[in-house]
Amino acid sequence: MSDCIFCKIANKEIPSNVAYEDSEIICFHDLQPQAPVHLLVIPKKHIESLDGAGAEDAAVLGGLLTKVKAIAAEAGLANGYRLVCNCGEDGMQTVKHLHFHLLGKRKMLWPPG
Ligand code: 5GP
Ligand code: ZN
Repeated sequence: MSDCIFCKIANKEIPSNVAYEDSEIICFHDLQPQAPVHLLVIPKKHIESLDGAGAEDAAVLGGLLTKVKAIAAEAGLANGYRLVCNCGEDGMQTVKHLHFHLLGKRKMLWPPG
């Protein structure tokens, strides 16, 4: 997707502060952090949202989710963290490339806003 900002980050066309990367996923610091640690974990493949993920994406997304604990540990989140996936209009998704927010180093609130 040539006009997708997260594809551009994945392709290194736009700089980001990368915390983790492998052949399938990349994790970088959010530009406007909502917690002392605020990372975004994304598949490198352009998938518009969780609603846009198909059976063919199961391996990549399963790999992503099972990698989160290592990324969180590396970020010093031994006391816990929150993983958020905003989906669609009501979910307040603003960037149309599937991403998971990994938030930590503060006590989260519930219910979320
Ligand atoms: P959403 O609201 O779609 O769930 O989250 C999108 C997130 O992407 C926001 O937290 C926003 O701060 C972050 N973001 C948007 N553009 C950029 C960018 O160019 N670089 C980085 N690192 N984060 C971005
Ligand atoms: Zn994209």
